[in-house]
Amino acid sequence: LMQLFIPLNFFGFMHREIKQGLVDLEAMFELMRQPAEVIDKTDAAPLAVSGGAVRFDNVSFHYDADRPILKGVSFEVPAGKTVAIVGPSGAGKSTISRLLFRFYDVTDGSITIDGQDLRDVQQQSLRHNIGMVPQDTVLFNDTLLYNIGYGRPDAEQSEIVEAARLAQVSDFIASLPAGFQTEVGERGLKLSGGEKQRVAIARTILKAPPILVLDEATSALDSHTEQEIQTALDEVSQNRTTVVIAHRLSTVIGADEIIVLEAGKIRERGRHADLLEQGGLYASMWDRQREASEAQERLRQAMQGD
Ligand code: ATP
Repeated sequence: LMQLFIPLNFFGFMHREIKQGLVDLEAMFELMRQPAEVIDKTDAAPLAVSGGAVRFDNVSFHYDADRPILKGVSFEVPAGKTVAIVGPSGAGKSTISRLLFRFYDVTDGSITIDGQDLRDVQQQSLRHNIGMVPQDTVLFNDTLLYNIGYGRPDAEQSEIVEAARLAQVSDFIASLPAGFQTEVGERGLKLSGGEKQRVAIARTILKAPPILVLDEATSALDSHTEQEIQTALDEVSQNRTTVVIAHRLSTVIGADEIIVLEAGKIRERGRHADLLEQGGLYASMWDRQREASEAQERLRQAMQGD
């Protein structure tokens, strides 16, 4: 029986190998399908940021021509203000942040920063002026000091330590035997989602860009971690034009405007209290979220026995 078993097992192995090969091939074709990289115009000028006002004017966009993703989206983030974008999965929220970074050009309409169309400015200067805190930060296989300092390579060590303090990650770093010299990343210490996000926030505080794009993690956080991250985010977004793809109540409550996106269109907009009063999509989304987070908090307390 053993003799039969080994070859079968081997075929299982081969099958997985071949399947993986096909998956890799698929990934490669997927990459090849990507549109040509956006190219700077020959006369592109560096982006000149005064206040950092962001404006989406009747923006439409598709990745594939047969499937529109954004359909006539208009909104403005006045200099120094915060706009939160919320909406169901697949509504086009992350697409908005990709367009602001000009990973793609809009299909129709325009995006401007302080009146300059993104298609007319040098990409390098655009990306230099926008800080991005992604949902899931990939850390370098290096020390925490390096990972935070990367935000501004000429930063002094004291500035890195201060950025970590403002990002609420100092206590965590102090609790590690090697402190800022702790190796992280794939081969080093694995950080939790909340810790990684705070390292990314510290990096961004150091970079101090005039415009900020935050993509909040969808994963549920306990209320203490949520509070720490919120404090860090409040710090980094202070006096900065901020676009936040928001999943947490604590973020949207403070936003100057909330855009509720559904299937690529703005369905509702306004401040938190006004939208709740309207009793529409936003109100039902947050009712559900509040119930879920209350249930999670009760569960956590029960498990801790307090
Ligand atoms: P979530 O909350 O789940 O992150 P989202 O609102 O941020 O969703 P997007 O990531 O903006 O949604 O995606 C909007 C739509 O665009 C989705 O249906 C997605 O499948 C599609 N899409 C995203 N990226 C690409 C791509 N590179 N090529 C083709 N379609 C894409």
